[in-house]
Amino acid sequence: MVMIRQYELVELVRSYDPNTDEDALNKAYIYTVKMHGTQKRASGDPYFSHPVEVAGILAGMKLDWKTITAGLLHDTLEDTLATHEELEKQFGPDIVKLVEGVTKLSQLEVQGKAAKQGENFRKLVLAMSEDIRVLLIKLADRLHNMRTLHFIESPEKRQRIARETIELYAPLAERIGISQIKEELQDIAFSELYPDVKDSISARLESLRADGENLSIVDRVIAELKVKLNEGGLENADVYGREKRPYSIWRKMERQHIGFEALADIVAFRILVDNIEECYRALGIIHGSYRAVPELFDDYISNPKPNGYRSLHTTVMGPENRRIEIQIRTHDMHNVNEMGVAAHWAYKQQQGMSDGDQYRWLRQLLTILEQSQAPEEFLEHTKLELFQDQVFCFTPKGELVALPRGATPIDFAYAVHSDVGDSTVGAKVNGRMTPLNHVLRNGDQVEIVRSKKQTPSPTWERFVVTGKARAHIRKYLRMQQRTEYAALGKSMLQKVYDSEGATFTEKAVNGILKKFKTATDEDLYARIGAGSLTAREVFYAIFPGLKDKKPEIADELPSINKPTKSGARISGIPIRGIIPGMALHLARCCHPVIGDRIVGIITTGKGVTVHTIDCETLESFADMPERWLDLSWDSDSQAIETQTGRLSIQLSNATGALSALTTSIAKHDANIINLKVAGRTTDTMDLMVDLQVKDLQHLSNIMAGIRATPHVYSVERIRGK
Ligand code: MN
Repeated sequence: MVMIRQYELVELVRSYDPNTDEDALNKAYIYTVKMHGTQKRASGDPYFSHPVEVAGILAGMKLDWKTITAGLLHDTLEDTLATHEELEKQFGPDIVKLVEGVTKLSQLEVQGKAAKQGENFRKLVLAMSEDIRVLLIKLADRLHNMRTLHFIESPEKRQRIARETIELYAPLAERIGISQIKEELQDIAFSELYPDVKDSISARLESLRADGENLSIVDRVIAELKVKLNEGGLENADVYGREKRPYSIWRKMERQHIGFEALADIVAFRILVDNIEECYRALGIIHGSYRAVPELFDDYISNPKPNGYRSLHTTVMGPENRRIEIQIRTHDMHNVNEMGVAAHWAYKQQQGMSDGDQYRWLRQLLTILEQSQAPEEFLEHTKLELFQDQVFCFTPKGELVALPRGATPIDFAYAVHSDVGDSTVGAKVNGRMTPLNHVLRNGDQVEIVRSKKQTPSPTWERFVVTGKARAHIRKYLRMQQRTEYAALGKSMLQKVYDSEGATFTEKAVNGILKKFKTATDEDLYARIGAGSLTAREVFYAIFPGLKDKKPEIADELPSINKPTKSGARISGIPIRGIIPGMALHLARCCHPVIGDRIVGIITTGKGVTVHTIDCETLESFADMPERWLDLSWDSDSQAIETQTGRLSIQLSNATGALSALTTSIAKHDANIINLKVAGRTTDTMDLMVDLQVKDLQHLSNIMAGIRATPHVYSVERIRGK
């Protein structure tokens, strides 16, 4: 076991981070050794060698001393008796936050073992790494675990870890631009997962090299490129030939279904210069000397990759007419390309950046990322606050479901499958029964409780946030409504038949479908039920000869959509909260008028009945909350010309009292539709009066006027029976 020693680590960190708190670093080293005690790694090494190596990797990336300290402590919260309080007391809040961040990610890892959707998982990890240093520690942790992967005995476990690494951690390393770590992770995972492929590619590379020819070709190409650059005035340019890695060769073969034959397939040449201007000069020299393959040119200097990668890429027919790939960049760019985020960090560190500048630095990173051309790619590749508007939750099997922020178990259920959504009766979040409107959080495990008897509830629509959930709920409600309307319409038509003494037959109905441009009798009944067609119209269409005999009378259910007897044509009720197309009726018990606070009651076969909120009838629906609808009047409520308000009036049984009352009502421009004497004594008279009014204000004015009329004792609106 070769492990970085305590003083070596402290010296190393001090060499690049002048703010290093040596005492804290020393204390953390001793603390992790003590806490992990006699725990052992699969290699047989003491466990503490792992956090120490992780700290060493982080120090190699020149990260600040707090990151190194947190690296030393990264497993203490999860694997030892260390507590949050103790860590905070010993090392302060910043370092505890980092350690906790890493612990959270490790716990996710366990939970999401079976996560199939790698991309979502990566986003989840990014969304949860509020501080990029958490992610850097996690990557260093994974890198060391991969370096020691071969010590793990179970092949299944090795493969699982390797797969997770290639699907999750290598892309994360790429995303924040650390290609050094990305490549090492990929290479180790690749040899674990595909040892045969790896061996055969390596053997092929070996034989190309052993040829002697290819190796010397690489040297000859380098020499010739150097001469050309020299002649062009770039004496300081460094030229390298870098053999491609078996993993990237394999990926390319997989993607393009080709083998590797040409030099360009196995070696990339790199030209390193001092500044951007020299990059383009070098490019000019190369393109001036050799024929370029046009479609293989990329300028990642003008248009950096989302992770900040910058370089010029070109492919030319080079020396000896061999196709070669050349990357041109400055030394600084090269450093960033290798170390990504960590390189920026180190750079800022050199500039004497204080802790408080951390977020400015992060913003700078985002600015770099923003220069990327494809906005989707940018979104996908950046995160940080960008993923904060999403939540990622697990199914009980560990699959990840991505949802918008604010999503509820109903959204989750519909995201899994529409059948699951339709039959949801309850939800367990992290093992506990939770209301269906509960707002889900990152990492929640959600189990949907289903019942075959359940159907979507209109109340769900009030709290779901996904379009999918809303669309399915509406679709279901529309279908259900249509069924109800059809049943209602059919019975209305049958009643007309009865009143006319005719015998109802479906055959006759089917014979007139064309006339009403409907496809099925169900459709026709539904139109009657919804009020867009009267049963009598349909009846007369079947028996045209009967039409003249009787005056048209209102249908059984005086829907607001039809002309009323009083002659006031009401075009529709201006109410919000209703499902479009649903039949509405103003309750006859309480006669709501515009301005009243109202609720709707869904009545099978009759659509929705609108009651005032204090109507007594509502009591009988108290235990059927599923039938209640939250309604309000549309602010633009000119659509109704008149409505009915019902008043109970007590007045003196004196001569002239009644005419004083009717005069007062007439003064307010209101019609009396109906007047009934409900009771009479020698002194008093109780009246029930139905008035045509415009709205609540109108009715209130009339009532005030009546109250001021001589002989009137009391005026009240009637609600309920
Ligand atoms: Mn670890």
